[in-house]
Amino acid sequence: QDREVSVVEAAPKKLYINGQWRDASGGATLEVHDPSTGEVLCSVADATEEDGWEALRAAEAAQESFAAMPPRKRADILMKAFELMHERKDDLALLMTLEMGKPLAEAYGEVNYAAEFFRHFAEEATRISGNYQTAPAGNARFIVAKQPVGPSILITPWNFPLAMGTRKLGPAIAAGCTSVLKPAELTPLSMLALAQLLEDAGVPAGVVNIVVTSTAGKVMEPLIRSGIARKLSFTGSTGVGKKLLEQCADKVMRTSMELGGNASFVVFEDADLDKAVEGAMQAKMRNSGEACTAANRIFVHESVISEFSEKLAARMGELQVGRGVAEGTTVGPMVDAKQRDKVAELVDDAVKSGAEVVLGGEPAAGEGFFYKPTVLKGVPREARMWREEIFGPVAPVTPFTDEGEVIKWVNSTEYGLVNYVFTENLNRALRVAEAVESGMVGINQGVVSNPAAPFGGVKESGLGREGGDIGIDEFLESKYIGIAVN
Ligand code: ADP
Repeated sequence: QDREVSVVEAAPKKLYINGQWRDASGGATLEVHDPSTGEVLCSVADATEEDGWEALRAAEAAQESFAAMPPRKRADILMKAFELMHERKDDLALLMTLEMGKPLAEAYGEVNYAAEFFRHFAEEATRISGNYQTAPAGNARFIVAKQPVGPSILITPWNFPLAMGTRKLGPAIAAGCTSVLKPAELTPLSMLALAQLLEDAGVPAGVVNIVVTSTAGKVMEPLIRSGIARKLSFTGSTGVGKKLLEQCADKVMRTSMELGGNASFVVFEDADLDKAVEGAMQAKMRNSGEACTAANRIFVHESVISEFSEKLAARMGELQVGRGVAEGTTVGPMVDAKQRDKVAELVDDAVKSGAEVVLGGEPAAGEGFFYKPTVLKGVPREARMWREEIFGPVAPVTPFTDEGEVIKWVNSTEYGLVNYVFTENLNRALRVAEAVESGMVGINQGVVSNPAAPFGGVKESGLGREGGDIGIDEFLESKYIGIAVN
């Protein structure tokens, strides 16, 4: 209890602009809540449009000198930040759990995952390279140089408050881009603590600016439309992403968009069922289901669906719902009342259209925004949760009969982020992996997030990739220099 109070007290609560910690112009603040109790944790500065402009001007002013910083120095800063994240993991994890709700063990996992983006991109920073080529006609040479795209606007969601920030800041810093980052207003403390850490790691003033605001649309739109920033990297809902793409069109900005998902989890009759159940637990219950990679539709071959559902319900029944900081908790609260009510609405809709409740099926009583781990069987294809992201601890299981049919169902969504396939047949695994429309596929594994791999979606799940050896390209331009040769 004392630790909870002291870690919140010690957390930075101001805007971080041009290397300075500042109140919002006008002095407004917004409240941050603990979703496991609904109580106010603290208040933080609530930026106005003017603050947004100052942050963008600071990023603009710092761009030239930061781009000229030797790559090795940028790499050293990122490596230092990686080390500091490990040194401060206890505070970072606790702060994250308090403002977001996830179980403390998962918060530690996220600190580790988030830090890996800094290490990965520290390694990439010194490997940025171009090309030298003879023109096909022999009369010229081509040099292709990679240059930072320029000041960038980064907008992140509340479900992974640290990792979604480091996944953008890592490549931006490695590439030599300055930035204005706007974290989700529900979970600003993690990002403010990270800003403090980046300052301590040696990030120069103006290179990273953090703007927390309760009026995201009003503050960010003029900044995006100004064209001063050359790049927008966004992680969030498809609806907001589309709106932002429109705003970016004005000045033809580069964009990276990590949007919603509607992942299928397919269990074939030749799968190792125990492995499949464990995979489903990860794909479904990581972050209490509040992940764009979460298994939203679980298709199980009709010959094994009874056994699979029983095993899954048994594992789901073992989960312990509670405050993320409490010993033994494996499922935390939903991030707010709105999110919990949305989950309840989707479950009620599925049940009304004929789904059978195997486990859970209702919000938990008492304070906080909890929803019980839920398994639904026989969810009809017209249920809303078939098309909409559940973003909660609800596993809808439904039967299928053959491969061709299930691939059609998997692809019958406007989303295309990730799909999971469980089978012991290698030919089938590859065939299905190639046929499904998604940026990522997990074969016999329920997690695909890895800083060393390119994360991203197709269709309305987004544009671009974060991480992997191509992640840094999102923040680089290729400049072709042609040289005439006599
Ligand atoms: P979620 O459904 O996960 O809350 P959102 O897309 O609403 O996803 O939020 C993701 C991020 O986008 C958050 O930081 C949020 O504040 C921000 N955001 C929401 N609306 C806008 C907007 N109109 N302009 C800029 N940012 C926005």
